Amino acid sequence: MRNILLSLTLLAASAVCMANAGDDALASIAASTGPLTVEIHRHSTWSEIAPKGVDADGLRMNLAPKDSMKFRDVSVTVTTTTASQKEGERDTVTVVLTNGKTTETRTLDEGAAFNWNGYHVAIVAIYAKRGDLGFGSTVVEVATIESLPKQVSEATRAGGAESRLRVKHTIDKLTLHHSATNHLANDDITTKLRGMQLWGESDRNWFDVPYHFFIDLDGGVYEARDYHYVGDTNTRYDPRGHFLINCFGNYSKVEPNAQQLVSIAAMMAWAAEEFKIDPLKIYGHRDLADSSCPGENLYRYIQDGTLRKLVDAARAKGKPKLVWLDKKAAPSPHHP
Ligand SMILES: [Zn+2]
Repeated sequence: MRNILLSLTLLAASAVCMANAGDDALASIAASTGPLTVEIHRHSTWSEIAPKGVDADGLRMNLAPKDSMKFRDVSVTVTTTTASQKEGERDTVTVVLTNGKTTETRTLDEGAAFNWNGYHVAIVAIYAKRGDLGFGSTVVEVATIESLPKQVSEATRAGGAESRLRVKHTIDKLTLHHSATNHLANDDITTKLRGMQLWGESDRNWFDVPYHFFIDLDGGVYEARDYHYVGDTNTRYDPRGHFLINCFGNYSKVEPNAQQLVSIAAMMAWAAEEFKIDPLKIYGHRDLADSSCPGENLYRYIQDGTLRKLVDAARAKGKPKLVWLDKKAAPSPHHP
């Protein structure tokens, strides 16, 4: 049901051949008589909740003290954050706003939003308490006022997932992640993806899941956030331009199998061709930010050049064909 490479005979991934997953993946790609075919389960097959947010010309970044973000001719620098001391109080952040010769320092509470010199600025979250996921970061959004709908540009509070910026980008980097959560053979990825979407909206203030595609244990591919839009992160790097693939599972603990490597390579080969990425560089999240992601056992395939070899082998067969499975083509048992 979840065979994703129609043109291939998929390899049985057993514990025995795990050690040769790279070789097996290469053999699998080499056996294809033409371009690889990747079936993709659309977002709507696993979630009844449409992505939220508003289209905008803007940028969202996580800033630690002394970090700056630049967007067009404005920059925002975080100086300090202060955790609330009492129940009911909000964390605060002091930022320096600069536009040409104009500079202003403001101290703002979590959720503040305001217009400044043609831009709408929102303090989406402040993670000032030790133990917070993203501890030390302030999440800041900046957008041009004219690109926003009035209910966002005139708002004085940042609001929730419905107000977050959907920013189009030009993809020029391929980046691999893992979920860092245990994922076993009989676990239903669609349940977990729905959970991630809801958690992302409520806990992280994201308009959708943060990655562009997920890879299941059997190599099944799931559409996540629309790849035309910039992804999100809990870490400190600029996610613009990154094509974000998340291999579901914890690859600090377990090994990826050949089917997963083939799917990752096929999606990266497609993106390399689609976006004409040259020179092609494959990143692991840990190359960009303070993170162990995508786990030692997956990162090894980037580091030793295996994944690059698989992507090149896939590209040599021609641009992979994506087949989008909608609800009717792939009824989920959870959404009859
Ligand atoms: Zn990651």
